[in-house]
Amino acid sequence: MSSVFLSNTNHEESQPCHLKLKDASIPIKVNLARYDEPAQRYCPAGVYEVDSTEGEPKFVINAQNCVHCKTCDIKDPSQNITWVTPEGAGGPNYPNM
Ligand code: SF4
Repeated sequence: MSSVFLSNTNHEESQPCHLKLKDASIPIKVNLARYDEPAQRYCPAGVYEVDSTEGEPKFVINAQNCVHCKTCDIKDPSQNITWVTPEGAGGPNYPNM
């Protein structure tokens, strides 16, 4: 997470989520049951979480932390996640590159 801070990643608070699920039930019903939802581990920015604090597990997307590597778009075992371009040039900002 410290690397997300160093990347100066920023998104407008009110913009729609740029990480689309084709079927919102798949992360819990399929991916969690079969693979322990690998999105929790392969995303380098910790965008995806499974929250079980209120009983039933819930899939959480913290899209504001996304560094736009597109790993989730490629690696999701159900091919259920689609990365789309965020609004307003949001994302990482590497000033020395
Ligand atoms: S594009 Fe990369 S950083 Fe963004 S949610 Fe997907 S895996 Fe995480």
